[in-house]
Amino acid sequence: MVFVLKTIHKMKLKLLIIGLLFINCTNKAQEIEPTYTYEVSRALQPYVFEYMATLDKYEIQYKKQSFIVVFDSDIMRTPLVGQAKGMFNDDLVYVKINPRDWGYLTPKQRRHLIFHELSHDIFNTLHTEDIELMKPSLPSDAKAFAMDIEKEIDELMQYIKNGNK
Ligand SMILES: [Zn+2]
Repeated sequence: MVFVLKTIHKMKLKLLIIGLLFINCTNKAQEIEPTYTYEVSRALQPYVFEYMATLDKYEIQYKKQSFIVVFDSDIMRTPLVGQAKGMFNDDLVYVKINPRDWGYLTPKQRRHLIFHELSHDIFNTLHTEDIELMKPSLPSDAKAFAMDIEKEIDELMQYIKNGNK
């Protein structure tokens, strides 16, 4: 009799422990958030922050995802100034900037480049001749100098907001 009681007691304890573990697991499953990587090279930060603030200003929603915008030495072997490696991957923003070319760009050209690459990467926006900032290549220095970047940013934001890609 004593033996039986002990066994039942042990069984109850086991059930209780299993129950606790189970509850723990379900709680954890609810709390688990994906881990996002965030890295933005220091010199690129003001430009990236401007882009994100502009999205907020235009009330443009975007998916939470890992976010990497960095100077990259591999891209120096290519003719590219910037590259949206995370384009068409909606779990990753990964923009590489050519550090050598960056040094030669004016602040206006830098804004153009960051708006171009981040629009590719976050919204899968394709190249188009209709939107100055989404043309496939950066304009000449003279054209860049004459460009009204505020107007072009506004056009790009309207374009993204209207769902064009
Ligand atoms: Zn491009």
